[in-house]
Amino acid sequence: MGQGYLVKCRNCNYEELLNLGVGMFFPGEYRKLIKMIEDGEYGAEPAEYFLNNPGAVVDAQLELYYCSECHNYEVDYNLSLYRHKDNREISNGYWLKQEDYDREYVFVKAYKHICNRCGKHMHKIRESEMNNLVCPECGKPLEVSTGVMWD
Ligand SMILES: [Zn+2]
Ligand SMILES: [Zn+2]
Repeated sequence: MGQGYLVKCRNCNYEELLNLGVGMFFPGEYRKLIKMIEDGEYGAEPAEYFLNNPGAVVDAQLELYYCSECHNYEVDYNLSLYRHKDNREISNGYWLKQEDYDREYVFVKAYKHICNRCGKHMHKIRESEMNNLVCPECGKPLEVSTGVMWD
């Protein structure tokens, strides 16, 4: 089961399915994300943290982020940093569940999502902002269908 939003522009026919994925993450996807973090694609700080802490994990939930400055939006991983309380490494192929975070992990730091258009901070979108999305192509209001679910 997944969740997402279908956004559509009546003016220029721009259309996109914002896929927020399956909720928690598959081991393969997660390893790819960690590799990107270690390669520094999300900046030097999380890369360094991962290299120095075997028990480091991130929240790999996909979420929709919004820039209230320029109305840009994008789907990205949450990327909040956590660390295992005994700094124990996640066993290969294990799939972290919400209760693992609650029981075994300590919150370290939230990731700052930066707008790739204007460089300001983006925040996790609020329900009320879903109706204010504007078309990245032509700047007209977008039509949003929420809560798309599929198996
Ligand atoms: Zn448009
Ligand atoms: Zn922006």
